Amino acid sequence: MKSLLFILLLFNSPRCTTTMVYVCNSPNATRYHYKADCRGLSNCQHRVIAMTLEDAQKSNKTLCKWEQ
Ligand SMILES: [Zn+2]
Repeated sequence: MKSLLFILLLFNSPRCTTTMVYVCNSPNATRYHYKADCRGLSNCQHRVIAMTLEDAQKSNKTLCKWEQ
């Protein structure tokens, strides 16, 4: 858990402005997640894929209700 936090801090560092998020690779998925092990992804029947926050928002995904 500590190492995951460290990776998230690296992604959010000023040198790297691209934030990666995780989405369920399903046509019905409408949420994006900051954590790959989020409980909101645990019932995903498809693959979990990583994309940039920008791409997730462009495809009209909204932040997972567990992480707001
Ligand atoms: Zn989530």
